Amino acid sequence: MTTRHAVVTGASIAGLSAAFWLRRTGWEVTVLERAEEFRDGGQNVDVRGTAREVLTRMGLFDAVKEQNTTETGTVFVDSSGRVLAELPDGGPDGATAELEVLRGDLAATILRALPDGVEIVYGDTVSGVEDGPDQVAVSTAAGRRLRADLLVIAEGVRSTTRDLLFGDLVERRDLGVAMVFGTIPRTTSDDTRWRWYTTTGGRQVHLRPDHHGTTRAMLACTGDFGGLGRADALRRFRDRYAGVGWEARRVLDAFDDAEDVYVDQLTQIRMPAWHRGRVCLAGDAAWCVTPMGGGGASLALISGYVLAAATAAPRPIEDGLAAYEEWMRPLVDDVQNFPGWLVPFAYPRTRFGLRLRRLADQVFTSRLLAPLTARMTQVAASGRALPPMESVHAG
Ligand SMILES: Cc1cc2nc3c(=O)[nH]c(=O)nc-3n(C[C@H](O)[C@H](O)[C@H](O)COP(=O)(O)OP(=O)(O)OC[C@H]3O[C@@H](n4cnc5c(N)ncnc54)[C@H](O)[C@@H]3O)c2cc1C
Repeated sequence: MTTRHAVVTGASIAGLSAAFWLRRTGWEVTVLERAEEFRDGGQNVDVRGTAREVLTRMGLFDAVKEQNTTETGTVFVDSSGRVLAELPDGGPDGATAELEVLRGDLAATILRALPDGVEIVYGDTVSGVEDGPDQVAVSTAAGRRLRADLLVIAEGVRSTTRDLLFGDLVERRDLGVAMVFGTIPRTTSDDTRWRWYTTTGGRQVHLRPDHHGTTRAMLACTGDFGGLGRADALRRFRDRYAGVGWEARRVLDAFDDAEDVYVDQLTQIRMPAWHRGRVCLAGDAAWCVTPMGGGGASLALISGYVLAAATAAPRPIEDGLAAYEEWMRPLVDDVQNFPGWLVPFAYPRTRFGLRLRRLADQVFTSRLLAPLTARMTQVAASGRALPPMESVHAG
């Protein structure tokens, strides 16, 4: 039997998981990454639900756990930092997950564990694709011509290859919330908990510990920051956060000097199909759930395993891709379809809305409702067993 060749675009969580599992099931794998080198940045992501099992099967559970951010819990605070409510400890999938890590650490751990036979090409992107019945021909901006049996697009929410090949199927749903993340110096007032401040005008401030001796900060507010560069976005955040109190000014001042500021206008990607011919999508490129839904890194991790399992089974590639999509879709739908009131509730505009939100925080974290609240953080958990991984395959 000849070795099948897969081209994967994007070397982050979804692309590296796909590369890992496809290689494990016998494929030759070429990964094309647009960045000139491995992208190490990013703030907190967590590995939850079925993704914990995928990580275990990769043999990486302990390696990821060792890089835990050291966060011990989650509290809601007021403008003076006083704790108003504390989220219940929901076990390994609680608000602070057992596997709470930095995105770059998770990606680097998978990168280091890739089996021999995975080639990573940095600084190149897809420029054209011809999807034929027997092969997919991929040309790249740097002039490569690759022939493959499968093309996996794992380029994240703003994937250009997805738009080139599936543009007619992409629905972008702007959630009307912008976030700016960055790493700032730790001060003595910081502790080991995720501290979460919500105030009027649809504004939040978050501070979380990491295991590098710094603090991970995030500002999140309602509005449209789409397309703004770093300097303009930070200026807009400064205007919006004037007089907000708590640690907002410290965060904004530190963001001016931070190297890794990352601005995101939360946009869900929804598509009626994630595959066509010999091409498929994985991770945020297919179904970006945004931090509002949570579980984006977990779904990305799971998708690599399910894709490899589905295409390892002895059947035509197209049938394998259909099986991959069928397995992933309920998991993704579960995260994406949160109720429409969630954004206005989480980001109150008025004093009255803020009072309601704080009252609800207290009710939902009370001893009576804490078990129910703890379950709300359980995403990316399937009641179904992961599909079996066969090593036999057909073209
Ligand atoms: C540098 C970085 C920082 C992040 N920080 C955070 C964060 O702080 N908080 C958070 O919730 N989420 C963050 N994310 C997003 C988070 O990683 C994803 O939501 C989730 O893990 C799903 O991963 P993914 O692999 O599908 O997509 P992504 O993690 O977005 O990765 C996509 C990869 O594809 C590459 N790429 C893009 N276009 C092309 C192309 N045309 N050809 C080849 N390669 C391409 C990108 O460089 C990137 O490496 C970050 C992502 C990156 C890349």
